[in-house]
Amino acid sequence: MKSGNLGYPRIGGNREWKKALEAYWAGKLDEAALHAELKAIRLGNLQRQREKGIDVIPVGDFTYYDHVLDTTAMLGLIPDRFGHTGGEPGLDVYYAVARGSKEAAASEMTKWFNTNYHYIVPELNEAAEPRLTRNRPLEAYREAKDELGIEGRPVLVGLFTYLKLAKGYAPDQLTGWIDRLLPLYAQVLRELQAEGVRWVQLDEPILTTTLSEEELAQVHRIYAYLTLEAPGIQLLVQTYFEAVDAYEAVVGLPVHGIGLDFVHDGGANRAALRKHGFPADKVLGAGVIDGRGIWRADLARQSALLTELGEQVAPERILVQPSNSLLHVPVRAAGEQRLDATLREALAFAEEKLEELALLARIGREGAAAVAGELAAAERAREALQQSPSRRREPVQRMTAELVAQPASRAGDVQTRRAAQEARWQLPLLPTTTIGSFPQTPEVRSARLKWRKGEWDDARYEAFVQEQIREWIDIQAELGLDVYVHGEFERTDMVEFFGEKLGGFAFTAGGWVQSYGSRCVKPPIIYGDVEFLAPMTVAETVYAQSLTDAPVKGMLTGPVTILNWSFVRDDLTREQVAYQIALALRQEVEALEAAGIGMIQVDEPALREGLPLKRDKWAAYLEWAVKAFRLSTCTVRNETQIHTHMCYSEFQDIIDAISALDADVISIETSRSHGELISSFEDGTYDKGIGLGVYDIHSPRVPAVSEMTGMIERALRVLAPEQFWINPDCGLKTRKREETVEALRNMVTATRQLRERY
Ligand code: GLN
Ligand code: ZN
Repeated sequence: MKSGNLGYPRIGGNREWKKALEAYWAGKLDEAALHAELKAIRLGNLQRQREKGIDVIPVGDFTYYDHVLDTTAMLGLIPDRFGHTGGEPGLDVYYAVARGSKEAAASEMTKWFNTNYHYIVPELNEAAEPRLTRNRPLEAYREAKDELGIEGRPVLVGLFTYLKLAKGYAPDQLTGWIDRLLPLYAQVLRELQAEGVRWVQLDEPILTTTLSEEELAQVHRIYAYLTLEAPGIQLLVQTYFEAVDAYEAVVGLPVHGIGLDFVHDGGANRAALRKHGFPADKVLGAGVIDGRGIWRADLARQSALLTELGEQVAPERILVQPSNSLLHVPVRAAGEQRLDATLREALAFAEEKLEELALLARIGREGAAAVAGELAAAERAREALQQSPSRRREPVQRMTAELVAQPASRAGDVQTRRAAQEARWQLPLLPTTTIGSFPQTPEVRSARLKWRKGEWDDARYEAFVQEQIREWIDIQAELGLDVYVHGEFERTDMVEFFGEKLGGFAFTAGGWVQSYGSRCVKPPIIYGDVEFLAPMTVAETVYAQSLTDAPVKGMLTGPVTILNWSFVRDDLTREQVAYQIALALRQEVEALEAAGIGMIQVDEPALREGLPLKRDKWAAYLEWAVKAFRLSTCTVRNETQIHTHMCYSEFQDIIDAISALDADVISIETSRSHGELISSFEDGTYDKGIGLGVYDIHSPRVPAVSEMTGMIERALRVLAPEQFWINPDCGLKTRKREETVEALRNMVTATRQLRERY
């Protein structure tokens, strides 16, 4: 039994990769220096994997931005608007596709399956002349061999996944595109074969989504062709993020190995393997170490799983692998010296996961007794966290259980609440408001930094925040908005802010994960029972409300968004953790209401992100997600108005769940997708308040009054004016002050013009 890896974080232990890219873009690093820096990171990663005892090390997974874009460049499919004529694109063209240039807008970027990694969407064009511009996997293979003597396993994005993620062609052109690109894949493989490469990993995560019979036949055709073209190469078709949908078709592909995810498959891969067996002539890539979570594995359980698999697959044909590329986890937990030792010891980031892989493979070869010491130490670390008081907060557990048993419903129905709220608020038709944050100017950021470093004491920082709030309350009054916000000046990030104030959350110093391009995020870690410790937003909100008679909306991040943007403990289900967060937020909602705040917005921009890959699992997810939101918001009085906000516009397929949130008012991003969203509301069954963002906050451009009136009129063709709210698309924290004020002024003017007409 051997250990294998599927991909490694590019960003380096200290985000050196990000720094190098950004220095190059800023003109502070020349091209040769960039190549040298990235090569050092790349070789360092390979060496690390060897040191940790990984037998099969992937090569070619490294990138200068995104591996899907690398594939596009390799196949000669750079879109025409970048003015590139054939051959291998230089870095200027490569980065123009990723980030845009003066002449051409960047290619679209979107989420890689259900992860927070974003890839550059390939744009196919009938007139393109695909050709192999460069054999990237071959170069990577040679480099690892020449420089380090490592016999790597080249990785490529599989052709079917690549095409399914691409846009710019009609469904009936798929076959044609396979025909056009297949010879190029064959050429890559033939050249690798000539070089003496033995195994190649082809990533086909698309095989975990639902595919039709015809599509599966296409996949079969692809691999039959490639196997025939490069018979000397053994192909590993690698799947991940879910169970494969058509187990027998996938394991029956004419290749030498199949990689399956046994961590995120809900048990389905394991059950299918037990039921249908596994072809005796194939290698099984067994994804038994979680490539997305950050916790130490239960090695005893995973090695028992390997033993079970070994009953159907000869152990020497099993490769012990992570469930997916380690790209999705941070680099190294051992360096987190500021974390509590009990927590740190229970973590496994990429480096620690390599050790786990090597250990499991060794157990497979030599038996558990050979590594008894390591196993016991690992188990002690897991147990210590499990037994720690942070995971045994009895009041939280009792209250959560009670909470979940109660119905999560507001006292009054929608009509009753609407009447109570109209009587209390007396808002004009088409009320105007904003989504929460106002510009986080350099001044705001530098104040926070001084406070964090201890240069400013709490009193000084709080006074500064109050000054900002006062200034923006005055601006909102002067603009004539109807519902105000305090501006969120005290927050860096909408999840981090709450995580720092709740029990059960921890923050790493270097737990970065690539999100897109050079952008990395550092998700909070939910390691213990989530506990409300003290009011988190009451002081700032009440201060803002004390300055005006207009209603000030309280502003919270919802339970599902906090969950989906964090690393979550794995001893409870996500559902259970969501309810714990809901309980804490409910206490905050109640504290705001008790302090006289009568409108409270609970943002859920990440609700959609949590949707499972498989459609048939959507309902179960949405049910508990909606329930968590309702649990946090349902105890307020009828006249207290609950708002929510979401930053996306694909609504059609989850509109019932969104309606079931039962928020009195929802604001949604729309300005980049007019028509489609509005049609979601066409049947008139959505009976609550709704604000479709009337301008795009992602751009510094100030929209004209007429653009906004046009947008509003279009919406009013399907929505009743009594339902409709006027607001921007999202929070304004990334905008400059002047453009914000001007845009909001135009928004208020547009609203006033329309009020005359309705
Ligand atoms: N209230 C938050 C803000 O205005 C919402 C941010 C978001 O939707 N991502 O910044
Ligand atoms: Zn938003």
